[in-house]
Amino acid sequence: MTARILLFVLALLAGLVAGALVQGERGAVVGIAAGAALWFTVDTFRAARVLRWLRTSQLRGAPHHGGWWGEAADRARRALAAREQQAQDAGRRLDAFLDAIRGSPNGVVLLDPQGRIEWCNQTACVHLGLDPVRDLQQQIVHLLRDPGFAAYYHGGNYAQDVTVAAPASTASRPRQLSLHLHPYGEGRRLLLSRDVTAVEQAEAMRRDFVANVSHEIRTPLTVLAGFVETLQTLELSREERSRYLALMAQQSQRMQTLVSDLLTLSRLEGSPPPGEGEWTPLATLLSQCEEDALALAASLGKPMDIVVVPAPELAVSGAGAEWQSAFSNLVGNAVRYTPARGTVEVQVTPVDGGRAAVSVRDTGPGIAPEHLPRITERFYRVDRSRSRETGGTGLGLAIVKHVVQRHGAELRMESTPGQGSTFSIVLPATRLRPLA
Ligand code: ADP
Repeated sequence: MTARILLFVLALLAGLVAGALVQGERGAVVGIAAGAALWFTVDTFRAARVLRWLRTSQLRGAPHHGGWWGEAADRARRALAAREQQAQDAGRRLDAFLDAIRGSPNGVVLLDPQGRIEWCNQTACVHLGLDPVRDLQQQIVHLLRDPGFAAYYHGGNYAQDVTVAAPASTASRPRQLSLHLHPYGEGRRLLLSRDVTAVEQAEAMRRDFVANVSHEIRTPLTVLAGFVETLQTLELSREERSRYLALMAQQSQRMQTLVSDLLTLSRLEGSPPPGEGEWTPLATLLSQCEEDALALAASLGKPMDIVVVPAPELAVSGAGAEWQSAFSNLVGNAVRYTPARGTVEVQVTPVDGGRAAVSVRDTGPGIAPEHLPRITERFYRVDRSRSRETGGTGLGLAIVKHVVQRHGAELRMESTPGQGSTFSIVLPATRLRPLA
C-alpha cells in the first residue's frame, strides 16, 4: 500500500517538476495532471493483463508484476495450482476406485432413482447378459426378467439377497446368481451380483450327503431294532435266537463298515497330500490284496479264481495305508460283483512315461457306459440291492478316487456289460522306484 502511494506521489512529483521546468507554474499543474494520468494508465494496463489472464483460468501465462496486481496474480496462480492439484488427486482416486470396481469378481450396476442403468462393470455384463453401451439408461427390470428378481425389486425390502438362475444358465450348465440391492444417495440403488453356482452345488451336495448317510444308517438300525423287539417279546428256540443274533451281528457290521468308510473319506478330504517319504513295495500291497480277496470270497461263500500276477520289483511312494485301501477296494468290488466261479485277476503293467498300472480285471456283470462317469460319486450305485447284499457302502470308489487324486495318479475304468470290468490305477513315474 505504502509503495503504491509512494509511486503515485512520485508520478505526480515527476509531472510537477517536468511541467514546471517546461512552462513554469501553469506547466506544473498540467504536469501533475499528466503524471496522475500516466500512473492510472499504467495501473489500468496491469489490471487488464491480470484480468485477461484470470479469464483464461489457465495456470500458465500468469503476468509477473510487482505491487497489488502482482500479488493478486500470484495469489490467484497459487489458488489455481492448488485446485488443479486437488482435481488431479481426485481424478486419480476416482480412476483407482473405478479400476477396483471393474476388476471386482462381483457384478456392480448403478441404478438411477427410476431404476435405469447408469453404469455397470464387465462382471455384471457377463452375469446379467448386459451390453455396457446399448443397455445404459434401460430399466433393469426390463432386462432382468426373472420373476424372483422382479418381486424382490418391487418389494422394496433389500435386507437379504435373492438367488436367481443366470440368464446364460442352461440345463446342462446351470448357473446361479445372488443379487443384492443396496439403496444409496437420493433414491439410487446399487445392484451387486455374485456367481453362487459352486456354493449352491456344494450346499446341495452337503444336503444329499447328510440325507444319504442318514438313510444308510437308518436301514440297518431299523432291522436291528426289529430283532431286539422280537428277542424281547417272543419266546424263541435256541436256533431261532442264534439265527437272529447272527443277522443282528451282520447289520451292526454293516454300520461299522459304513462309519469306518465315512471316517476314511473325511480323513482323506481333510489332510494334506502325502509326501514322498514312505516307500512300499508293490508286492507287499498286492499280497495283502490277495489275502483280503480270498477272505472276502470265502465269507461270501463264492468259489472263484483269484489270480495275482507277481508284481515287478518296484516300490511306490506316498501313504502306504491309502494305497492298500485303494487297491483292496478295487479287488473287493471285483470279488463282490463277480458271480461264483468267475475270475478276478490283479496285475501290474508298464505304461508309457515310466508309469505303471495296477489293474484289477473281473468277469462280473460289467457296468453300462452311462453309469461309468458317476460311479466314483459318494453313494452312487448301479445296482443298489446287489451292493447291499454284498456289504457295500457305496463309498469304496469315492475313497479310491480321493487316494488316486491325492497321489497324482489316474483311475481308469473299462467295462463291457455282461463281460466284466477292468479298473486300473496308473501310478505316476515320480512315485515309482526299483526296489533297493
Ligand atoms: P459299493 O460299496 O456299492 O460297491 P463302490 O463305490 O465301491 O460302492 O462302487 C459303486 C458302484 O459301482 C457299485 O455299487 C457297483 O454298482 C459298481 N461297481 C463297482 N465295481 C464294480 C465291478 N467290479 N463290477 C460291477 N460293478 C461295479
